Amino acid sequence: MVIIMKMGATEAEKAAVLSRVEAAGFRPFINPGVERTVIALLGEVDIDKVELVDIFANMAGVERVQLISDPFKLSSRQVHPEPMVVPVGDGGVAIGGSTLVVMAGPCSVESREQILESAAVVRAAGGAILRGGAFKPRTSPHSFQCLGEAGLALLAEARAATGLPIVAEVMDPHEVDLVSQYADMLQIGARNQQNFALLRAVGRSSRPILLKRGPGTKIKDFLMAAEYVLAEGNPNVVLCERGIISFEDATRYTCDINAVPVLKRLSHLPVIVDPSHATGDWALVEPIALAGIAAGADGLIIEVHPDPQHARSDGKQSLKPKRFAALMERLARLAPVVDRQLPLAVRAG
Ligand code: PEP
Ligand code: MN
Repeated sequence: MVIIMKMGATEAEKAAVLSRVEAAGFRPFINPGVERTVIALLGEVDIDKVELVDIFANMAGVERVQLISDPFKLSSRQVHPEPMVVPVGDGGVAIGGSTLVVMAGPCSVESREQILESAAVVRAAGGAILRGGAFKPRTSPHSFQCLGEAGLALLAEARAATGLPIVAEVMDPHEVDLVSQYADMLQIGARNQQNFALLRAVGRSSRPILLKRGPGTKIKDFLMAAEYVLAEGNPNVVLCERGIISFEDATRYTCDINAVPVLKRLSHLPVIVDPSHATGDWALVEPIALAGIAAGADGLIIEVHPDPQHARSDGKQSLKPKRFAALMERLARLAPVVDRQLPLAVRAG
């Protein structure tokens, strides 16, 4: 249930509504809004509570009361009709506005040279955010386990050199503070998308969250995962479609392009596409990247490596610098078709 206050409702009227909401056993969640305050009621609306709709609707300062049918409340467009724009870093990068945001970089940080070179490539081609894993879930415990905090420090060095904000994965609730000290945006990987303790922990962080869809997760459950983050007070969540499991084994996963407009219809949160993990094949990254943007995505996350053949993870799906630059140019040509643009650097190139 949401209570939409009148424009110009007084503080006393809002306070009275809030205390009535609490007295009825709900947790109020306030969305200040530009024009009017919206109060979402979190908790079960059982049959006994339906009559509260009339009680709230008749309180001073209340414009109307709306029942929300979606199980996800805070991530629902019914509660938040305007699209959300999520700022990343303090240099003006924002996801969800008219400018497409491309995050790019290697799957994992391997060395100082590798990440500095990747960052320079990403920046020169017009990427807005540098990606790189320092803590990563590897399928095998015998594979390269990534550099941990030393990798985060290298990412911070790459940010200082290029000005690009950085996104890095966090896997453990106890490492949220550590990763937040270095990264501008925290990534929740596909394997942890339903790790509720981790979702709660990043919900208490002040960093924006990149939430990747689990390969076996339905869209509604994906939004319930976002709900965990929002319910802890962090409104800045970006959803990422990164491929789901299907019977098809010609590609690593199947990119659910449908998910882009479906998520946009159901939620106000920005949506990006990861064509690298969705396909597992560098040669398919460009067409699926273009398809994602054509379907309405707000941006992309793409794996780029200076030397993919020798990458320590996900080399097969990583673009070489030249291919990444070529993709950015094609994207710049596609963007106006969907009423978007890329940063000036790419348009000029
Ligand atoms: C990654 O971004 O490198 C990654 C491991 O992605 P996912 O969690 O989507 O598999
Ligand atoms: Mn990867």
